[in-house]
Amino acid sequence: ARPHVLVVGGGYGGASAARYIRMWSEGSIDVTIVEPEAQFVSCPLSNLVLGGSRQIADLTMPRDGLASRYGIRIVRDSVEAIDAQNRTARLAGGQILTFDRAILSPGVELLWDGMPGMAKAGAHEAVLHAWKAGPQTVALRAQLEAMPDGGVFALAIPLAPYRCPPGPYERACQVAHYFQKAKPRSKVLILDANDDVVSKGALFKRVWTERYPGMIEYRNNFKTVDVDAGARTAISELDDKVRADVLNLIPPQRAGKIAVQAGLANANKRWCEVDFLSFESTQAKNIHVLGDAIQVAPMMPKSAHMANQHAKVCAAAIVDMFAGGAPNAAPMLTNTCYSFVSDKDVIHVASVHAYDAAKKTLLAVPGSGGVSTAAAELEGVYAMNWARNIWSDTLA
Ligand code: FAD
Repeated sequence: ARPHVLVVGGGYGGASAARYIRMWSEGSIDVTIVEPEAQFVSCPLSNLVLGGSRQIADLTMPRDGLASRYGIRIVRDSVEAIDAQNRTARLAGGQILTFDRAILSPGVELLWDGMPGMAKAGAHEAVLHAWKAGPQTVALRAQLEAMPDGGVFALAIPLAPYRCPPGPYERACQVAHYFQKAKPRSKVLILDANDDVVSKGALFKRVWTERYPGMIEYRNNFKTVDVDAGARTAISELDDKVRADVLNLIPPQRAGKIAVQAGLANANKRWCEVDFLSFESTQAKNIHVLGDAIQVAPMMPKSAHMANQHAKVCAAAIVDMFAGGAPNAAPMLTNTCYSFVSDKDVIHVASVHAYDAAKKTLLAVPGSGGVSTAAAELEGVYAMNWARNIWSDTLA
């Protein structure tokens, strides 16, 4: 029988892996994606919806091409349980699927457990995360539009590691860009649990003072442990209370629920360790994990670009292993994260990661990568091309 790979999650990691297994095996491996959402909505560029220069429809795409062009079976459901021993998956709808190998790319689970204030009725309508692009992104934009001029937008950032290290700081720029045009007396207050800006710090700080003077205030070491959602108040570990007109809370995160339930989150009970030659879990044979859910190698961000690169290493390894061979022993991955600091101007950080056989991990190649010298419109052109390329490489 032909080997069958089951892919859990049709986001950046899962869809890319499915597509590349079909291409590189020349159709000799059957692939099924299980994904509950009808459409793919891109988190990259979703901060621009808050800034007002893009609509969520611009970031929403069908997955039809994966089925029609590559013969991938797409099942619209979610996986509720994985039995690695017997190689079966149970779907929410009751169906049982069997597989020879499974790939999990379920993204992150947002952790609200430690915040009693978020368990109150109406809290999740009052205080949004917008850290999974979709209805929350649109709702947060509506809150910003409804806010009176002179109001405060507070953005709470969790301790790293979290999905998209520069994302929150890009968001602060986008909201400031909107305020500068529409509500110039308003303020952006960043409440960062970290002791400094996690990514592209010098560049972001320069943008904040030069382009948005007096509008963005940055507070470090503000660990939001709870909220009073009705009063839109963030409460810190030191019981500092900060009231805002719009409170955007990005909570701590861990590997998507299904990966945790399958017992794969063996790093701090939060992230899944993998063998970087194949992205096979160190916890269960024949189960691979990609994207935000993994315990990353040093200097490796949780990004869409990285998830797409994980997918290619994993797809090549799976094709080689089903053919009776071993995975490539020297994979090399790249990453670029662009951040829009206005509707046009962009900064980037780039890196290259090579496998180190002695340390059995991916290490940033010395002298590779780096950051922009300053925000530039030309980088905005590169950023849009990056987005079109990765959407096509994932879905088209
Ligand atoms: P996702 O793309 O989130 O895909 C996970 C999929 O799994 C989802 O479709 C979900 O429905 C599905 N799923 C979950 N559980 C199950 C289940 N049990 N059964 C079936 N399906 C399931 N990255 C960049 O590279 N560049 C950027 O500019 C950038 N900007 C960002 C801006 C913001 C505001 C945010 C929030 C993120 C940004 N990122 C960016 C990060 C990027 O979105 C993530 O790193 C990327 O989506 C990770 O891919 P993934 O496959 O791990 O998860």
